[in-house]
Amino acid sequence: MISLGDLPLRADLVGEEPYGAPQLDVPVVLNVNENPYPPSPAVRQEMAAAVVAAAGTLNRYPDREARALRQDLAEYLGHGLTADRIWAANGSNEIMSHLLTAFGGPGRKVLTFTPTYSMYPEYARNTCTQYVTVERRADYTLDAGLVLDAIAEHRPTVVLITTPNNPTGTTVPLEVFDEVCAATDAIVVADEAYQEFSSGPSALELLDRHPRLVVSRTLSKAFALAGGRVGYLAAAPAIVDACRIVRLPYHLSAQTQAVARVALAHADEMLARVRELAAEARSFEEWARSHGYGVIESEANFSLIGRFPDRHQVWQRLLDRGILVRETGPAGFLRVSAGTPEEMATLKDALTDLNPERLP
Ligand SMILES: *Cc1c(COP(=O)(O)O)cnc(C)c1O
Repeated sequence: MISLGDLPLRADLVGEEPYGAPQLDVPVVLNVNENPYPPSPAVRQEMAAAVVAAAGTLNRYPDREARALRQDLAEYLGHGLTADRIWAANGSNEIMSHLLTAFGGPGRKVLTFTPTYSMYPEYARNTCTQYVTVERRADYTLDAGLVLDAIAEHRPTVVLITTPNNPTGTTVPLEVFDEVCAATDAIVVADEAYQEFSSGPSALELLDRHPRLVVSRTLSKAFALAGGRVGYLAAAPAIVDACRIVRLPYHLSAQTQAVARVALAHADEMLARVRELAAEARSFEEWARSHGYGVIESEANFSLIGRFPDRHQVWQRLLDRGILVRETGPAGFLRVSAGTPEEMATLKDALTDLNPERLP
């Protein structure tokens, strides 16, 4: 059998491993910030019916502009947005790939602020965009001065700012986006994958003022549709046009568009657990704090607790009890997604039993 080393793999991909969080079949899965509540039986039925209807035309290519879905997304977001200012793709990871393919590429840089989402370097690598990072402040927040200094130093064409940030859960105030966008020609992307969980305002409010601002969203987290693979952005029509140039033709399947439209038609129901999940995360953080753990201030549906002298050992011991959390974030911390009350109780019991060593 031929091996990878014998193939003419791109030089910059040699030695790379496929990346991703472990997918393990255990009772308590709290590692990838999914919504623990599946769509209701009624919504499932409607999704199945929509797929049956779509199957009636599966001999034809799907609408490559996904017009109806983009219209639904515009209505969901509000803020006076229209379908020509929305783009949709297979998860926001494909949205980011479109943006970096269009606005990054060889000889160009994308700037992020670490610690941040572990997938960004992959999108940069795949699109041959140089990935540059600057550390956030000690409390994992950002201010406009820090961002603008980094832009002046590195001259990126794309700046990715995640709010609430993954893995820290910290948010970036709108004033920071406002000041940064006013002072740069770079495309500034606000990755708002967790915005629905946060109490703060959305960068959508700034879109009319800043034509190079992009707000990226997803149905994977709050919307409980990670398996459906739908992400989207809101921006100026010209930015959508750039994405339309680089997308693969017919990138969003007919089934995907049909299922997403049913989810959006039931937005209230799909999002019903959002406040509850945010509250679950905040209450877990309070519990952790009162039990001597360090906790990072989060506005998302996940919490970071630590600091463990050996976080891998704690991760493994939790896994041995059927609880999967994520080894990510600042050294010594573990990230825990908000689960059901039962799942969180199981986690707290396990931590109480294990009583892992914590650094001050
Ligand atoms: C989970 C996540 C996404 C969503 O990715 P999808 O491809 O839409 O599932 C995007 N950005 C961040 C920071 C995330 O944590």
